[in-house]
Amino acid sequence: MKRIWEYISVRAEKALSIKQVMSFAMAMLGFFHLCLTVFFSIFGIFPMAAMDFCSVVLYVFCFVQIQRDKSLLYLFNLSYLQIVLHSVIAALLLGTESGFSLYMIAALPIGYYAAYNFNMRKQVINPMCYVVIAGAAFCFLRVASSYMGPFYTYGNKALVSAVYMVNYFVAVIIIVSFISTLLNQIRILENLRSLQNKQLEKLSKTDALTGLANRRSIEERYTQTEALREGYSLVIGDIDDFKAVNDTYGHNVGDAVLKAVAEVFKGTVRSEDIVCRWGGEEFLIFLPKCTGGDAANIAQRILESVRVTDMMTSEKEVFHITMTLGVSTARLGMEFTEVIKEADDNLYYGKHHGKNQVV
Ligand code: GH3
Ligand code: MG
Ligand code: MG
Repeated sequence: MKRIWEYISVRAEKALSIKQVMSFAMAMLGFFHLCLTVFFSIFGIFPMAAMDFCSVVLYVFCFVQIQRDKSLLYLFNLSYLQIVLHSVIAALLLGTESGFSLYMIAALPIGYYAAYNFNMRKQVINPMCYVVIAGAAFCFLRVASSYMGPFYTYGNKALVSAVYMVNYFVAVIIIVSFISTLLNQIRILENLRSLQNKQLEKLSKTDALTGLANRRSIEERYTQTEALREGYSLVIGDIDDFKAVNDTYGHNVGDAVLKAVAEVFKGTVRSEDIVCRWGGEEFLIFLPKCTGGDAANIAQRILESVRVTDMMTSEKEVFHITMTLGVSTARLGMEFTEVIKEADDNLYYGKHHGKNQVV
């Protein structure tokens, strides 16, 4: 009951597939026509009883074919035509007071359901075809019923009202089921898309190897933001002779070294600092509200931690690497790119003066 309520109030976590919807609809319609067969037999309206019996056979056939994965569109159209034809014939034979003409209105959302679901299966459907068929049937019924019929009467006024009410409720169930299925499908797709967008956005800002922020995300974030006004420092670190690591131990070991260095950076900075992979073997730290002295201390701690971190060759032999780090602090009126350039210049000064140091 709870799940049905969630479904019709468009809060379901899963929408029914077209096969499930059609199987359910065929079973329900088959059962409904079986009840009508019994009802009309009791009241001696044998043409209706015969038509409803044929409908039961049709729905059993459709149900079996759906389970065998036969052409769903063909079965869908067949049952749609049955609904419209049955609706016209029953309303002609029993009069519009029977409520059977309501199905020509209830059929309208079915076309939109078909258009959405079969189009997703690359079968192009124009929902207006279904609307026009139901509309033409409705107009035909209006004109025809003013010249002929009703041909049969059954029971007293109370029974006629009861039949109308039953048809009304079945028509409402048809409308609600198809519209809620459509809306559930659309809502679930929207949720999925926004989740995928978030994941993509995260991926586009993350370096795949180290899991650190990538250069683009830092540039986007810190070229114009408020954080820059409150003062900050930058540290750029570059692994010394990393090309030799790759050449000596292989690219996979090189990758493992990059990951290990990323861990050292992450483990050393404060929670408000942001570490980013700035380039191949270059790392940048953005240190908000941090003086040059504090930034140099952090860089020194990183330098020492990297020196003592055990790196492994593929033969499980330990080796060590070193880094050179350049530090810079923003002064009044300095652009972000200027601060970066200063840190970079310091780094290259260190590279040309013995490496393995903080400048
Ligand atoms: P220096 O001390 O002057 O910095 O020398 P270096 O060898 O570290 O500098 P260089 O710029 O000559 O070499 C950087 C190397 O980093 C070259 C490149 O193959 C390697 N590299 C860049 N990105 C990756 C990566 O994602 N994985 C691996 N394994 N190597 C990378
Ligand atoms: Mg290097
Ligand atoms: Mg480099």
